[in-house]
Amino acid sequence: MNHDPDCIFCKIIAGTIPSKKVYEDEEVLAFHDIHPAAPIHFLIIPKQHIPMLAQTTMENTQILGKMMVLAPKLALEAGARPGKEGGFKLLVNNGADGGQEVYHLHLHVLAGPRPWKHELPG
Ligand code: 5GP
Ligand code: ZN
Repeated sequence: MNHDPDCIFCKIIAGTIPSKKVYEDEEVLAFHDIHPAAPIHFLIIPKQHIPMLAQTTMENTQILGKMMVLAPKLALEAGARPGKEGGFKLLVNNGADGGQEVYHLHLHVLAGPRPWKHELPG
């Protein structure tokens, strides 16, 4: 699998940087964001080093779909309230203009009762 030894999220996958894990399987890892912008804020990342959404191809549709399908399930497990009253927000920052700071593709999952911090990640 493709890794970048200088990438902070590849180091989290390798375990050389600690994280608070939400979920892990052979293809993806989910862990709590170190600077939460909402009461619940975690990131879902592919274990493969893909720098940004704009660099994905049709070969990545399976992993991208898996990240999206996992998001609501993991949000509920992490304490997001179910149904119309509850919910969650998904966010992908892409490139400098998109506010991306870490160049390893990640899906932000934000949830919990409002108000949230006005400043969303990125
Ligand atoms: P971006 O702005 O690239 O979309 O989001 C990067 C996110 O990664 C930020 O919300 C930031 O708080 C989070 N982050 C950066 N470094 C670390 C780290 O070492 N550990 C964890 N858990 N989160 C991190
Ligand atoms: Zn990486």
